[in-house]
Amino acid sequence: TAYYPNFDRWYEATAYPAPDGLSVYFRDVTKGRQVDQERQQFAALVAASSDFIGVAGLDQRSIYVNRAGQALVGLEPGQVSGINVLDFFPESERDNILSHIADSEGGEQLVLDTWFQHLRTGQLIPVSWSFLRLRDASGNVSGYATVTRDLTERNNAESLLRASEERRRLALNAAELGTWYVDPATRATKTDARYRAIFGTTGEWTDYMEAVAVIHPDDQPAVLEAVAAATRLEDPAPYAIEYRIVHPDGSLRWVLANGRSSLEGAGLARRVVSFDGTVADITDRKRGEIELIAALAAAESANQAKSDFLSRMSHELRSPLNAVLGFAQLLQLGTPPPTAVQEKNVGQILKAGWYLLGLIDEILDLSQIESGRLTCVLEPVPLAEVLDDCQALVEGQAQARGIRLNLPQKDDLCIVTVDRTRIKQVFINLLSNAIKYNRKGGTVQVHVETAGRGRVCIRIEDNGIGLSPEQLGHIFEPFERLGQEAGSIEGTGIGLALSKGLVELMGGRIGVESVVGQGSVFWVELDAPGAQVSAPPD
Ligand code: ADP
Repeated sequence: TAYYPNFDRWYEATAYPAPDGLSVYFRDVTKGRQVDQERQQFAALVAASSDFIGVAGLDQRSIYVNRAGQALVGLEPGQVSGINVLDFFPESERDNILSHIADSEGGEQLVLDTWFQHLRTGQLIPVSWSFLRLRDASGNVSGYATVTRDLTERNNAESLLRASEERRRLALNAAELGTWYVDPATRATKTDARYRAIFGTTGEWTDYMEAVAVIHPDDQPAVLEAVAAATRLEDPAPYAIEYRIVHPDGSLRWVLANGRSSLEGAGLARRVVSFDGTVADITDRKRGEIELIAALAAAESANQAKSDFLSRMSHELRSPLNAVLGFAQLLQLGTPPPTAVQEKNVGQILKAGWYLLGLIDEILDLSQIESGRLTCVLEPVPLAEVLDDCQALVEGQAQARGIRLNLPQKDDLCIVTVDRTRIKQVFINLLSNAIKYNRKGGTVQVHVETAGRGRVCIRIEDNGIGLSPEQLGHIFEPFERLGQEAGSIEGTGIGLALSKGLVELMGGRIGVESVVGQGSVFWVELDAPGAQVSAPPD
């Protein structure tokens, strides 16, 4: 048989001896040759495939197994024909395989994920096994074939993926992060269990706007803005925002959300395909931050009060000192002035001098109280005597401002256990404040009442400017001068802090009640052994 290029055909030539020589018959075998060739090509393909390809007869005995197949199950070339194909499967799989084959009767192809077993080592091999029936020209089943793929690699990749997914889950757990996913097309939002625990929501899927509804109304605009920036088509911003949520249990919580969007396509077809990320409950951290900020603000305000105090102090000290020096110089200037003028000048010097001394004493007392070095000498003192002395000292100040001073009847008063000098300091301070921060022509009223057995409460009431709740919280702190510009009313902001320290040293209590614009009541509660509980009113 030979190929005749001139005809592009194959001819089989047969020669016989003939009486007059040789008879030669040519038979065109091109068709058969082509089929053969195709068969050869297919055979080469099958042989070269990396999948297990095998053919078996109706008796399940193997007829052909390609090289890759032989290698997969450890089949020697000599063993190929005659081996029962069920031997490729581990014992445990065989019934399963047979029942699948029986079930697939009629259908052409069956695909199943199952196991092969190495014939020599017994090692199990994960495979995708496909099975088909071969039919002859008349349509009768003439045998079986399989193309079986080794899944070891795919399974390895899958287990790597599973491991990395597991690591991701562990990391999320360790960081206590919840996760969320928004489908931009439908706005359907998927959340995990931790997300739902933080937000107090139920159901894995929710609508995006329902998720937004949990956000504190004040924070919603900022969150929506951040989401819009993170999901815009051009240059989307990373999504990272802290906001408050109102948990269904009514509590306010802080969360930190992080996320990103994924985009696809270009030009008009460009779209956001997903938007997803994490949330963390940062309530505790936020609380800490807020406390820290408050502590810093308090420290700053204390510092501010201290420096204000120093500047006021130098101011307060300088003016009387100027007077002392000025008048002293006048006195020094030789020529004898008229006696009356001389007396007046000396009077001014003394007044300024005493004032300076008072200020300096106050500062010293306060620093001694703060360092615990001040002591009080307690003794029984008639309250009437104390109030009398104090009244005498502030009378002039009250008259100058046209303020009426109403003290209780002397007969109603009892004996208090106090340090005689120190208690006067306290009342002079409270009375002079009640005069200073009063309206012109106002009244200062002093009441005394029993405060339980052996205690008495002295209340100093004015109808002046009063104090706001915020001021009330700080009023007994040193250097605080509330809402007053330096110089508007003279004072240093020491008096009340000192009064509190002194009263407490004497075993008493001090306090204030006030409403802005409606005056203030400063009260002092002291030990008064003879004080009786007054009979309750009928
Ligand atoms: P100072 O009188 O020198 O300012 P204090 O310690 O006696 O210092 O008072 C502290 C601040 O408390 C005052 O600056 C004033 O703002 C406020 N204050 C005190 N007494 C009264 C009062 N009776 N009515 C209104 N405000 C007062």
